[in-house]
Amino acid sequence: MPDRRSSYFVFQGLFMSVLLLIFIYGVPQHGPGWHERFASLAAILGTPLVLIRIIPMDALSSWGFQAALFVGDAAVASVALQWAQAGANLYLIYVLLIFGTALSRSLLQSLFIALVSSILFFAKSYRPGAALSQPTGFWLQFFFIWVAACLMALLSADAERAQSEDRRTYEKRLVDAERLSSLGQMAAEVAHKIKAPLTTIMVNAEYASAKTRAPGLTKVLGEIREEAARCGEILKDVLNLGRIEELDLDPTDFAQCVRSALRAAGPQIRKSRLKIDESGLETPARVAGDKTMIAQAISALLQNAIEASHNGGIIRLQLVKSRRPLIRRDIWKISFQDRFYRLTIIDSGSGIDPKDLPNLFKPFFTTKKDGTGLGLAGALRIIQKHRGTIEASSLGRGLGARFVVTIPALNGKAL
Ligand code: ADP
Repeated sequence: MPDRRSSYFVFQGLFMSVLLLIFIYGVPQHGPGWHERFASLAAILGTPLVLIRIIPMDALSSWGFQAALFVGDAAVASVALQWAQAGANLYLIYVLLIFGTALSRSLLQSLFIALVSSILFFAKSYRPGAALSQPTGFWLQFFFIWVAACLMALLSADAERAQSEDRRTYEKRLVDAERLSSLGQMAAEVAHKIKAPLTTIMVNAEYASAKTRAPGLTKVLGEIREEAARCGEILKDVLNLGRIEELDLDPTDFAQCVRSALRAAGPQIRKSRLKIDESGLETPARVAGDKTMIAQAISALLQNAIEASHNGGIIRLQLVKSRRPLIRRDIWKISFQDRFYRLTIIDSGSGIDPKDLPNLFKPFFTTKKDGTGLGLAGALRIIQKHRGTIEASSLGRGLGARFVVTIPALNGKAL
C-alpha cells in the first residue's frame, strides 16, 4: 500500500475538519471554555496528522499504530459530539459504526456498514421537504458519518492486513526455520565428511606448489588452493549451522555478547574506517542463551553491516529493554508482561533492494560475489532458538539498513 500515508492524511484531515465544524456549529461560542475546548480538540485531532507525516513507513503500517488511531479518533469524536450536543440518533449511529467497522473483515464490509448507518441516520433525521432546506447541521452530521466511516474502514482493513502479514511472516519463518534445521543437520554430516579430503587437497596443493618451479603449474596450484580455501569457508558456515541445533541455554548477558562481537569485528571496523555509535551496552541484559552462539549471530549482522558500508560510514547499535516482541506469535496471546531485549543495528551502507527483503533470511541467498548466503539464515536460526526474532528493513537505496534482534529477558525466572 504505497499510498497509505497520503490516504490517511487526507481522511484524518477531513475527519478533523468536519468534527471542528460540528463543534463550531453545535456549541454556542459564548459558552464557558469554548476557546479552550476548541483549541484542545484541534490539537488532539491535529497530532495524528503530524504523526502521519513524520513517522517511518513501517511504524505507520503496523497494526498498533492503526488500532491506536482508530480508538483515539473514535474517543475524541465521541467527546466532541457530546460537547456539540449532537442528537442521540447520531450518537447511536456513530457507536454502531465503530463497532461494526471494528468487527468487519474487509473494506467492502466496512463500507456496507457505513451505507447502512447513513441510511439509518437519513431515515431518523431527515425532515420532510427539499434536500437543500435541511439545516446545515444535518448535512455536517451526514458528512461526518461518511468521513468517519471511510477513515475507520481504512484503518480497520489496514490493521487487519498488517496483523495477517505479521502472522504470515512468522509462520513462513517457522517453516524456513524447520527446513533450515533439517538442512543444517544433514549438511553438517556431509560437511564433516568432506572436511578431511578437502584438507588433503589443500595440503597437497601447497606441497606441490612449494616443490614445482613451472610458472604455469604454480598458477594452477594457487587457484586450487584458493578455491579449496573458499570451500573451507562454506564448510565452516555449514558446520556452524549444524551446531546451532545443539546450543545450551544458560543465564547470559546479551550486552556482553554484543560487546564481544564488536571486539571481534574491531580490526575490520578500523580497516574500513567505520565509526561505531553504541548505547545500552554497559547495562547487563540477562537472557537465557548460549553466549558463543548469540555473539556469532550478532557477528554475522555486523559483518554484513561492515561489508555494506562505505569507508568512513557509521554503524549504530542500540540495546534497550522493551515490553513486547516485534512479531507476535499469536495476536490473542500477547503477554504484555513479557519483557524483551531489543538490539537495533543500523548501518549507513548500500541499503537493501526491496525485492531482496523477502529472501534475505533464506539459506544460500546472497547478492555478493563470494558470499555464502548462510550468515543471516544462521543468525535467525540462533535467535529463534532463543525464542527471539530478527527483523530487517531498508532505509532506502544508499541510505543503509536496519536489523532488529529481539530476545526475551530472563527476569530471574528459572530456565
Ligand atoms: P552473505 O553475507 O554471505 O551474502 P547473508 O545471509 O549474511 O549472506 O546475507 C544475505 C544477503 O543479505 C547479502 O548478500 C546482502 O545482499 C543482504 N544484506 C544483509 N545485510 C545487509 C546490510 N546490512 N546491508 C545491505 N544488504 C544486506
